[in-house]
Amino acid sequence: MSDIASLGDLTGKRVLVRSDLNVPLEQVDGTTAITDDGRIRASVPTIKQLSDAGARVVVTAHLGRPDGAPDPAFSLAPVAARLGELLGREVAFATDTVGESASETVAALADGDVAVLENVRFNEGETSKDDDVRASFAGQLAQLADAFVSDGFGVVHRKQASVYDVALRLPSAMGGLVATEIDVLRRLTIDPARPYVVVLGGSKVSDKLGVIDNLLEKADKLLIGGGMVFTFLKAQGHEVGKSLLEDDQLDICRRYLTEAAERGVEIVLPTDIVVADSFGDEASARVVAADAIPADALGLDIGPESAAAFAAALGDAKTVFWNGPMGVFEVDAFAGGTRAVAGALTTIDGLSVVGGGDSAAAVRQLGFDEAAFGHISTGGGASLEYLEGKELPGIAVLERH
Ligand code: ADP
Ligand code: MG
Repeated sequence: MSDIASLGDLTGKRVLVRSDLNVPLEQVDGTTAITDDGRIRASVPTIKQLSDAGARVVVTAHLGRPDGAPDPAFSLAPVAARLGELLGREVAFATDTVGESASETVAALADGDVAVLENVRFNEGETSKDDDVRASFAGQLAQLADAFVSDGFGVVHRKQASVYDVALRLPSAMGGLVATEIDVLRRLTIDPARPYVVVLGGSKVSDKLGVIDNLLEKADKLLIGGGMVFTFLKAQGHEVGKSLLEDDQLDICRRYLTEAAERGVEIVLPTDIVVADSFGDEASARVVAADAIPADALGLDIGPESAAAFAAALGDAKTVFWNGPMGVFEVDAFAGGTRAVAGALTTIDGLSVVGGGDSAAAVRQLGFDEAAFGHISTGGGASLEYLEGKELPGIAVLERH
């Protein structure tokens, strides 16, 4: 598969880079603040590498889910400004993606200069399911450049114009961030060092249940926390009150429990739960047994006994993949489980991988040193789809080069 070196001498060449700059924003006193710039920082090395090589770097990215039309709330302008600070150089900003501003901005670039195009999802062609609509938009993007570098790992599982179609139209290569992510995922799937422990949590329950199928063939232990817990507890016949529940997944959870037992894979479920009367209500937080959740309560974290058990189960692991917070870590009373798992990962003698936007944010928010983890992935969905054994369109298209 082609890396940036395969593109040859880049001096003076216009290089379109698809980065993942989809950061959380917050409005503070009328101005937009970036609450976690992890993805921007992760994008810097490839952009810098191209700029140092004398390329005219044109960055394309999305922010949030605008509806295929311009929406100032999702402008990349504040992100471009932060990228400039991190790069330590001026970053030009085009107020459209493929329009007049984009053409003029790109034409004005000198060798080594960097520009960011406005949110690629302001154009309906980006995410269209109609191949022709996408292709036509990708053609416009391709006209802005002489080569393409795919470095937005968080989107490589999407068949979108700036991820997939544009790579069919330009000499294309994989950026260092995507290359590193794929390398780590290979280490998780091809002959992982054992014991191999997987920790799953978070709130996107049905998205994540699919990965268990594949993991049951690979992992030695599966620790389950977060919102996913309650569908499993209910599948075992317990009351889960008002907790997050996916009723239509109960049969699947039952099947996983049986299959795990048959394969000798240990599924570890919490034995105690921190519940509250309503979502995020710290004042009413209390610990109950996992099989005795009151009908009017909702589970917002794994309990302290479970947190200790999860940490102990991670103790001798040689490979760990963790995706999804153990609880509503954004509120301190429900952060204990996530803190315990994150802490255990920092002491692993082997490869520890954190996947998922909120999991990565939790690690930083709870004050852990990112360097203490083997790898913090920038893409939750993409990692999960890879681990599920699905083909990632944004990677497959690069393999054609
Ligand atoms: P990631 O981005 O790491 O893949 P998700 O997006 O699936 O993770 O889930 C993250 C969210 O899950 C967090 O905002 C957290 O508050 C929430 N969460 C964790 N546990 C629970 C729970 N028991 N009930 C409701 N939400 C939960
Ligand atoms: Mg998330």
